[in-house]
Amino acid sequence: MSRNPYVESRDPELADLLAREEARQYYTAKLIPSENYASNAVMEATGTVLANKYSEGYPHKRYYEGQQFIDPIEEMAVHRATALFGADHANVQAYSGSPANLAAYVALIKKKSDNKRILALSLNEGGHLTHGHKVSVTSRFFEAHHYTVDRDTHLIDYDAVRERALEVQPAVIVAGATCYPRIIDFARFKAIADEVGAKLLADIAHIAGLVAGDAHPSPVPYADVVTTTTHKTLRGPRGGLILCTNAMARAVDRAVFPGLQGGPHNNTIAALAVALKEAAAPEFRAYARQIVVNSRALSDALLAGGARVITGGSDNHLVLFDATPFGATGKQGAVAMDVAGLEANANTVPFDPRSPMDPSGVRLGTPALTSRGMGAAEMAKIGQWICEAVRSRDNETELLHIREQVRDLMAAFPAPGFEGGVPPRSLLDA
Ligand SMILES: *Cc1c(COP(=O)(O)O)cnc(C)c1O
Repeated sequence: MSRNPYVESRDPELADLLAREEARQYYTAKLIPSENYASNAVMEATGTVLANKYSEGYPHKRYYEGQQFIDPIEEMAVHRATALFGADHANVQAYSGSPANLAAYVALIKKKSDNKRILALSLNEGGHLTHGHKVSVTSRFFEAHHYTVDRDTHLIDYDAVRERALEVQPAVIVAGATCYPRIIDFARFKAIADEVGAKLLADIAHIAGLVAGDAHPSPVPYADVVTTTTHKTLRGPRGGLILCTNAMARAVDRAVFPGLQGGPHNNTIAALAVALKEAAAPEFRAYARQIVVNSRALSDALLAGGARVITGGSDNHLVLFDATPFGATGKQGAVAMDVAGLEANANTVPFDPRSPMDPSGVRLGTPALTSRGMGAAEMAKIGQWICEAVRSRDNETELLHIREQVRDLMAAFPAPGFEGGVPPRSLLDA
């Protein structure tokens, strides 16, 4: 009966927590925009004997013997990545998105150069920690400068980015975000980078699946290096992927290994190969488009429920709203939603007067629910529940009433990755 029979017999204590987490993931509305449900095939590849193998180096240039089957697997992943994204070169070894970004900086900024300046979107306005935030090592090894978004529209103001670039004269401009609900104009970023003689790094960690499915313009024609995670909208295993021009290929590969890492995680690389094959299928294009349709439907429902949606809507997979008009902080809103079975995270809104530990906003996304086959009608319902939950944050009866409805809805939309058995609902409150 168990989905994990071997863990259950070896380590019942772990198996119990695992089973309950499975049930939690199945019956909760996963609205965290960086999360998804990987397919059974991706998860199966992740759990294979490939994890036993050391293969430092690159195909046909390894420091260990026994690579007869590892080499073609890595080559397959590389080939599928370059084909899917139309890139010259791919490195599939980065352990995750953050190490991929570090490798990109190392590759793009020459060791002996005096110019170690990077210019990226500030954290509070939607950038990532690895974009030179003061608590990230990226700001210790490089000199970080930031641009923000427009104070009124909360959109990236490309004229202001250009002004900042002219001031800072960066070596690298980073285009990409962890919390930005609109299209990013990579062609514009390229023009700015060219004008100041900077290299362009596009970090598409959040939107890689949309780019692959043609639901967001691709940075590949413009950027020297493109980094991404593989587990967000791309729906693969937890990992990192770097795409780059032929001119950057050697520097990128050397930055990853031996620069920053040891042996590649071959099981993850195999699972990435599977995910890239899935992402090249016509259904994935439909998936990517539906993510955006759902995101718009969700933001419409929030607006109808009285929420202050940042930028007034969404063009991608992500919706950010300010919880303070509901009389709640972002954290209080996200906690109330969690009680109601609606899983999200508190996030700063642009120019947030509150601290990142207890910000004003709640960040939402539709990739995971879209993977379950939900559409605009379900988003409308969920948007309404979100507003009710944040408003009723002190009313436990109301929150639990929403939670039962959420669980019924989740039960009606099977999640990928659970083909081995649907977790029993009885585990939820055990
Ligand atoms: C998620 C994310 C990363 C980091 O990925 P990890 O796999 O969590 O290290 C980097 N950049 C952006 C824009 C992200 O959203």
